[in-house]
Amino acid sequence: MPTFDEARRLILSSVAALGVERVGLLESLGRVLAEDVVAPWNMPFCNNSAMDGYAVRAEDCREPVRLKITDYVPAGRVPTTAVEPGCAIKIMTGAPVPAGCDAVVPVEETEETNGQVLIKEHVSPRQHVRFTGEDVRCGEKILASGMTIGPPEISMLASFGRAFVPVYRRVRVAVLSTGDELIEVGEPIEVGKIINSNELSLAASVKAIGAIPVLLGIGRDDRASLREKLVEGLKADVVITSAGVSAGDRDFVRDALIDLEVKQLFWRVDMKPGGPTAFGLKDGRPVFSLPGNPVSTMVTFEELVKPALLKMMGHRRIVGPLVKAILQDTAEKKAGKIHFLRVRMERSGDTYLAYSSGDQNTGMLKTMVRADGIAILPAERTSFAPGEELSVHLLSTEVGMLDEGALQYEAEKKN
Ligand code: AMP
Ligand code: MG
Repeated sequence: MPTFDEARRLILSSVAALGVERVGLLESLGRVLAEDVVAPWNMPFCNNSAMDGYAVRAEDCREPVRLKITDYVPAGRVPTTAVEPGCAIKIMTGAPVPAGCDAVVPVEETEETNGQVLIKEHVSPRQHVRFTGEDVRCGEKILASGMTIGPPEISMLASFGRAFVPVYRRVRVAVLSTGDELIEVGEPIEVGKIINSNELSLAASVKAIGAIPVLLGIGRDDRASLREKLVEGLKADVVITSAGVSAGDRDFVRDALIDLEVKQLFWRVDMKPGGPTAFGLKDGRPVFSLPGNPVSTMVTFEELVKPALLKMMGHRRIVGPLVKAILQDTAEKKAGKIHFLRVRMERSGDTYLAYSSGDQNTGMLKTMVRADGIAILPAERTSFAPGEELSVHLLSTEVGMLDEGALQYEAEKKN
């Protein structure tokens, strides 16, 4: 049986980025760029004004001076006259600066009267002018293949006229729940029935990373039913099943996978929760068989499936975020396998504090809901005391965010 690290390495070495598609710029948000992008022109495109004010020759304005206003260039207009010695041209932010001008004086530092402007202070050459190519030079590489596209990347692409961008394809992930006891959400609950929550939690986890869930519904505990569902699932890029892979005599997922000649890399992993996790490949398509307990399903998705899906969508950063946190409780376990402890995270100054979220039995969903991190308890260790440092995989982007009452960047001004 592989250790957790071996299992994750095996999975990751079995998958690769899927392929590339062109999408509209806004649709590229959160996707991974699939080619280097080179600037097709200079940015700024031409010398232009960074302020509303007056275009001048700096050498005319070493000390306070009155200049004759000879023209006006609003934003969007192209200047038709040059700045002559002793003169100024009124100009708006973003407008191309006229020939002859090497500085702009902000309107706040001037006074305009009778067609003249009083420049009140010394003017330095280049001030308040944005020069051609000072941000990006034509031919410069502005974005590299493999970058995740966020608002600044979109701004850059938009600024260079890119309405469409090549990005790695989103992964289509078929999700199959298995078990005779399962009923769908909304059906009346009865003794002996379990509501199929795994399908929705898995679909939500798939959606949360920008992949596309394909819901296959419930496969019943017989070989033929599971085979049929899996054949359907294998039309997607990835299949994830839950339950039916342990040693029970109604666990038929394994038989169905064998029938379909899915090449199995492992049937179990030395981890807790998540022992009965299997992984195989059918013609290169990954098939993850996760345990059925909702907590185990979610933890194995986070730790083993998610990095693979991210890699398939072209991401390079595929694990974590991992932070160091100070454990606030005791924890005990047997030596031999890695454990994943559900923890509630708090931030105290620059330090993360990790509190056990409660009963760690995999049947306890409440302690998964309460958790915003998964602390990693190394295989060889057995007891953990308050005050020790652990690695924690953050589950929530809200950890460390501040509420309104805690907001303050600056010292309050004293009047
Ligand atoms: P199994 O691996 O089939 O023995 O299932 C383990 C446990 O997970 C059982 O208590 C199941 O009822 C529960 N379970 C299995 N599938 C689901 C599901 N789709 N949603 C919620 N619980 C499930
Ligand atoms: Mg079952």
